[in-house]
Amino acid sequence: MSGFVEKPEPVQVPGLVHLHTGKVRDLYQNEAGELVMVASDRISAYDWVLPTEIPDKGRILTQLSLWWFEQLADLVPHHVLSTEVPEGAPADWAGRTTVCRQLRMLPVECVARGYLAGSGLVEYEATRTVCGLALPEGLTDGSELPAPIFTPATKAEVGEHDENVSYEEVARLTGVETAALLRQTTLAVYSRARGIARERGIILADTKFEFGLDGEGAPAGTDQPGGGLVLADEVLTPDSSRFWPLDQWEPGRPQPSFDKQYVRDWLGGPESGWDRGGRKPPPELPGPVVERTRAKYAEAYRLLTGTSFE
Ligand code: ATP
Ligand code: MG
Repeated sequence: MSGFVEKPEPVQVPGLVHLHTGKVRDLYQNEAGELVMVASDRISAYDWVLPTEIPDKGRILTQLSLWWFEQLADLVPHHVLSTEVPEGAPADWAGRTTVCRQLRMLPVECVARGYLAGSGLVEYEATRTVCGLALPEGLTDGSELPAPIFTPATKAEVGEHDENVSYEEVARLTGVETAALLRQTTLAVYSRARGIARERGIILADTKFEFGLDGEGAPAGTDQPGGGLVLADEVLTPDSSRFWPLDQWEPGRPQPSFDKQYVRDWLGGPESGWDRGGRKPPPELPGPVVERTRAKYAEAYRLLTGTSFE
């Protein structure tokens, strides 16, 4: 079992059509046909949306994405149009609303990895490969890879795991030209971002991008990209990336991180009383866990952008 403990009702705003309630973001369409993406304070872990929110998380992640889109704009076009709160929307949408170009999303989670962790580590330990790509002997938890790799996944429904897929599968899903462009762009954006992060004392171990196509174009599954590739969704946030403090990096053990590892550890530990493999939804997070998690998100924002979120 997994998913939402209780799925929130969409907010009704005149002129907006509710499209989708994601694990973290709510999507609407405005009368101009643009996408209005509103980031909530929801947090997910182990494929569950937790019953407790992290105050300010939606605003921190929205502002961080906007900052990154700007850093990367000369490399790849992005989907952001404005941050204007639609008329009649709740005032608390300010700071967590992004008005974007509505794109034809490509059905691939474009993951770049520069270090070994997570599902990559599990696969490496079993077969010395990550997503089927052969890697040298002697790597361990947190090791830097000889070169960054593209390890795509297909997007799962709420409550399901994303599934790692081969590059050939991406080519089958999107066409060979688009697949090549996805791999190239993913690695180029990752390389730029990791350089920026490193200057600020953060290792960008891995990250996930989503791309869409704008304009008219050939349908998916054909060999023409059709329309330009646009970077969409959120980018380079602690929800989509592993950020590690550089000064504490030490391969051979799990790395301290700015993401929700702290929440995962608490949920998986004895204090939560929760059985990850069972049928029951996860419990509420205690106040100190909420506060610590919020502080981690705010700290990542501060280190990367050089400005305090408060
Ligand atoms: P999760 O990311 O937690 O697996 P989710 O993807 O269903 O869940 P969110 O990430 O909360 O939910 O919602 C954002 C949704 O908006 C995603 O489905 C994403 O693919 C989609 N999206 C992002 N940018 C655009 C865009 N420019 N045009 C169309 N869809 C977009
Ligand atoms: Mg998403």
